[in-house]
Amino acid sequence: MNSIRTRFAPSPTGYLHVGGARTALYSYLFARKNGGDFILRVEDTDEERSTEDSMRMQLADLKWLGYEYQEGVDATTLKDRGPVGPYRQSQRLSIYREHADRLLKEGKAYYCFLTDDEIERQREDAMKAGRPHQVVSPYRDWSLKDAEKKISEGGVKPTVRFRVPDLTREYTFLDLVRGEVKFPSDMVGDFVLLRSGGMPVYNFCCVIDDALMKISHVLRAEEHLSNTLRQLMIYEAFGWATPQFGHLSIILGPDRQKLSKRHGATSVNEYRERGYLPEALSNFIALLGWSSPKAQEILSMKDMIEQFSLDRLHSAAAVFDEAKLKWVNAQHLRALPHDELWRRAEPFLTGAGLKLPDDPDWRDRSLQVFKTSMELLTDAVELYRPLAKIPLTLTDEARETMSWPTSRGVIEEWRAQLKAKSGESYLTESEFSAIQESVKTNRKVKGKELFMPIRVAILGKPHGAELKVLVPLIEMSTLIERADQVLGFV
Ligand code: GLU
Repeated sequence: MNSIRTRFAPSPTGYLHVGGARTALYSYLFARKNGGDFILRVEDTDEERSTEDSMRMQLADLKWLGYEYQEGVDATTLKDRGPVGPYRQSQRLSIYREHADRLLKEGKAYYCFLTDDEIERQREDAMKAGRPHQVVSPYRDWSLKDAEKKISEGGVKPTVRFRVPDLTREYTFLDLVRGEVKFPSDMVGDFVLLRSGGMPVYNFCCVIDDALMKISHVLRAEEHLSNTLRQLMIYEAFGWATPQFGHLSIILGPDRQKLSKRHGATSVNEYRERGYLPEALSNFIALLGWSSPKAQEILSMKDMIEQFSLDRLHSAAAVFDEAKLKWVNAQHLRALPHDELWRRAEPFLTGAGLKLPDDPDWRDRSLQVFKTSMELLTDAVELYRPLAKIPLTLTDEARETMSWPTSRGVIEEWRAQLKAKSGESYLTESEFSAIQESVKTNRKVKGKELFMPIRVAILGKPHGAELKVLVPLIEMSTLIERADQVLGFV
C-alpha cells in the first residue's frame, strides 16, 4: 500500500456531475503524479436516494473519462477489488456499528431518545427566540447502562449521538486549497452518528472509511467544508490522525450562480452524448480550479499527470464556460490521428443511420476535408450526411430549380457523363470540373443554370457545401443513383 492514497467517494443518487468528475480527476492526478493509490468508494447509505443504476452509470462515466482506480468497486463486474474493502458503504454497516459501540463505551457518544417531534419543538423555540438551533438532549448525561436498560425494555429506537466536547477552543486545520480554516467548537450541537434505524450518517461513515482505508489526502467539494468540523471531532474521538483536506473551489454558471441544471448540461453523460471527447472534458474541468505551471491551455492526460500539484489549486470560484469547452474539444479532436478520430466519430454516424464506405483510404481523405469543420464528434453527422448512401430529400428550392426549362437536360448530360466513368469508384476534383465543363458546352448553359441543377442532383438542394470538395468523396454509384432519382422526380 502506498503512503499517498486519495479517493473519490460518489453518492449514487443521480448522474456523475462535472463537479464530481473534477474531484475525481484531481484525486486521480494527484495519486498518479506521486505514485500513490486512487480509490473509489461508493457512499450509498442514503437508502431512499441511492440506486444501483446510478452507481453503474457513474462508474461507467469514470471509466469513459479514464480515471482508473487501483481499489474500489469495479465498473464492469461491480465487485470489490482491493485490500481494505468492502468499498460500498451499504456493505460496511457492521464496521460502523462496531465503531459506534466503541464511542458509546468510551462515553464519546450516547443513545438519544428524543423524538422527531421533540426536536422540531426545540427548533421552533430556537427560531422564536432568534438563536441558532442546536439539539439539546436530556440523554446526554445518561449512563450507557441506563440507556441500554431503556432499550431492552423495548418500544424505543434511539439514535446514537456524538457527544460534542465541551470545549471553548477552536478547531483549526490547514486546508490544502484555502489555507488555515477555523471553526468555533460551539458551531455544532451533539450530532447524530447512527439514525434510529441503525443507519449511519455520512460524516460518521466518511471518517471511519477514510481512516480504515488509510486515505492520506481528501479532496472534495467546497460544500463539505462545514462537515469537516464534525469529522475532525470524530477523528479526535478515535484518536486517529486526520488526512489532509482540500476543499475545491465552487463551479459557477455564466451568470455566476452555482452551476446547476438551469445552466444546461451538467452531467458527464450528457457531454459524452453531445460528442465531447473524454480527454477534452478532463482538460477543461482540470482548469476549473487548477492551472498549469506552464500556462498551457491544452493538456493531454499525460501533461496533466506530469504538471499537477496541489499548490496550484485555487480557491476562487470557477466559471464554467461552454464556449471554451467546445474550443478545447476542437483542439483535442483535430489533434487525433485519423483512424482514432474515425473510431470516435463512427458511433455517432451509425447512430444517425448513415451508411458510409468501409474504406480506410476514403476515411482518411474525408477526415482531411471535414476535420477542420468539426468541434464536436456529433458535427460529423451533418458533414457526412451528403456522403451517405441515402436517397436525396429535395427542398422546395430544389424543385423550383428543376422546373427551369434547361435543368432536366443538364442532369441528363451530367448522368451520361458519370455513366461514362462508372468504372471508377470516385471522381477526382479535376474530373468533376471537366464534366461540368462538358455539360456546359454540350447543353449550352452556364452560371446558375448549370451549377444549381447539378447541385440538386448531388445534394438535393441548390446551395450548400463546396462541390469540388464533396464530389470526390461521394461514391460514383451514389452519384448516379441520385441523378436517377432527381430525373425520376421531375
Ligand atoms: N459522498 C459525498 C458526495 O458525493 C462525498 C463527500 C466526501 O468526499 O467526503 O458529495
